[in-house]
Amino acid sequence: MINTYICSAWPRSSLAVMGRTERFPVHRIYCIGRNYEAHAREMQATVNLEAPVFFCKPADAIVQDGADVPYPSATSDLHHEVELVAALGCGGRDLSAEQGLAAVIAYAVGLDLTRRDLQAQAKAKGTPWDTAKGFDHSAPVSALRLVSELGHPVAGCLSLEVNGQLRQQVDIGDMLLKVGEIIAALSHYFELRAGDLIFTGTPAGVAALQRGDQFRAGFPGIPDLVGRIV
Ligand code: MN
Repeated sequence: MINTYICSAWPRSSLAVMGRTERFPVHRIYCIGRNYEAHAREMQATVNLEAPVFFCKPADAIVQDGADVPYPSATSDLHHEVELVAALGCGGRDLSAEQGLAAVIAYAVGLDLTRRDLQAQAKAKGTPWDTAKGFDHSAPVSALRLVSELGHPVAGCLSLEVNGQLRQQVDIGDMLLKVGEIIAALSHYFELRAGDLIFTGTPAGVAALQRGDQFRAGFPGIPDLVGRIV
């Protein structure tokens, strides 16, 4: 079997970049929890900015813009979490917030899809969130918009529509930890690298998705993310 598996180029996950033919190869996907106060409240979770909640998704959990998302196994409560996503062009350890922000070369919009029933069980039992958060196809992400064109957004309306109805909407200025601060905190636990994606937390309004639902997530200046649950 190994002879048919080994190949010269590893087909890594990658994302399109608006206006470019080149793509962004994805190294890892990091996510922060409880980064908007209204969402922490709706989850009845406490916020501790000194010890942020981080979790990961596999890089190959990415779903490209426009692609169908298969409804995952082992859940009857698949939830959407729309998030601003920061893409790193370099990395490092123990970064300052300024260094962390400077490492971001592009932004996207993503969905942190969640098996909410399994997450609730994991929280109750004190067990890891991997099956709730890191499953196959759990990370639809839009094409990237380069910082050289967009700048670093500090305000603006992040939103998600499902079947044309508004489900989540927030000004990203309401983030508790800002993008550079998230990256600085993460870099205390992991050596960050070019190709890392950082999901920056979800606003309030999380709810269930069903087979057949069409979603559209957006942020000014970033290509929309569209897709369908099948
Ligand atoms: Mn999330």
